[in-house]
Amino acid sequence: MTPTRVLVLNSGSSSVKYQLLDMRDGSRLAMGIVERIGEGSSRLRHTPLTTGEPREWTGAVADHEAALKAVAEELAKDGLGLDSPELAAIGHRVVHGGQRFTEPTVVDDKVLAEIERLIPVAPLHNPANLVGLRTARALRPDLPQVAVFDTAFHTTMPESAARYAIDVETADQHRIRRYGFHGTSHAYVSRATAKLLGRAPEDVNVIVLHLGNGASASAVRGGRCVDTSMGLTPLEGLVMGTRSGDVDPAVIFHLMRVGGMSTDEIDTLLNKRSGLVGLCGDNDMREIRRRIDEGDEQARLAFDIYIHRLKKYIGAYYAVLGTVDAIAFTAGVGENAAPVREAAIAGLEALGAAVDPALNAVRADGPRLISPADARVAVAVVPTDEELEIATQTYALVGKNSRAITGE
Ligand code: ADP
Repeated sequence: MTPTRVLVLNSGSSSVKYQLLDMRDGSRLAMGIVERIGEGSSRLRHTPLTTGEPREWTGAVADHEAALKAVAEELAKDGLGLDSPELAAIGHRVVHGGQRFTEPTVVDDKVLAEIERLIPVAPLHNPANLVGLRTARALRPDLPQVAVFDTAFHTTMPESAARYAIDVETADQHRIRRYGFHGTSHAYVSRATAKLLGRAPEDVNVIVLHLGNGASASAVRGGRCVDTSMGLTPLEGLVMGTRSGDVDPAVIFHLMRVGGMSTDEIDTLLNKRSGLVGLCGDNDMREIRRRIDEGDEQARLAFDIYIHRLKKYIGAYYAVLGTVDAIAFTAGVGENAAPVREAAIAGLEALGAAVDPALNAVRADGPRLISPADARVAVAVVPTDEELEIATQTYALVGKNSRAITGE
């Protein structure tokens, strides 16, 4: 029997999200999350999708190892345990692959050491990803573990887009450059957009707007990323739920010198207390729209700043790409917030882009066009599916390797 299942693990600092997929058709067999790991009252929510009811429990889950063991136990209750011969591989989301990892990679000791060496540029994410990788390896040492990097899709960016204009020696010494994130989503959505247009990814130029709590834009030429809005870290670029996105770097010196703030305080300010939450106290676009409807000026201004930044990136990527075939909205805000899509595209008629209000108002699950039929540039809503993309890349790599071993 050829194993056809892939377990996708997304290990964050205090949570582990997981999905088990059957790669014959990409369907989900189970999914769940362990939250508040190491915090006394951790919570596990497990949803078997083919048999049984969702289960939830709270209790102490001391660390990621305990969390993964709990996940394995829940899966086993549905006959989907990690020891199943049908499990082909585990695919891990790894946030930072630096310049080294341009593709999904089967994990061995050397790869683990290299991911570890990237911790200084990804102190918030890579340590948790590593714990997930090590624990899963310990649980199933014989099973291929594949790392799929958030940065990989962006490694095709030309140096002109990837480098900051700062002293080259200093930049190289500290590996300071623009890496970009959400790459798995940008890869998936740009391909799905080409498919929606009935064209090959190589033949289309797409601007992808991944608007979740974290948000990033990318310019994709013929299936390859040529620019993206996040940089050394996920802080650069668009206005996000709690992150400022672009600011003049001198704001930081000013806060240190005049505001007397420490590095950590400024880090927290820009990453956790800025963006929409910093501007109006809310980071949920639904709540912001509700407040705007009630005439709340602060919410209105937060929305306008969000849209203004988004428009600037859309305009910049038109210029970078030269020709744009499609603009694709994805993630929580992009997929659900019609007013954001309408406002971001408003006024771009001269650039060939427009939104049809009736199509934009339709709520649906799948990829869909929201531009008028005669529009030069297609505007689309394309739901992202990072887990499916991680599983697909993992399964393809494992399949390729096993064919290489068996000589098929
Ligand atoms: P994350 O970056 O955490 O993966 P998501 O892609 O799930 O984020 O997006 C979460 C955000 O999506 C929420 O903070 C909220 O602003 C927005 N959102 C979700 N559903 C809706 C909706 N129906 N209308 C408007 N915004 C929504």
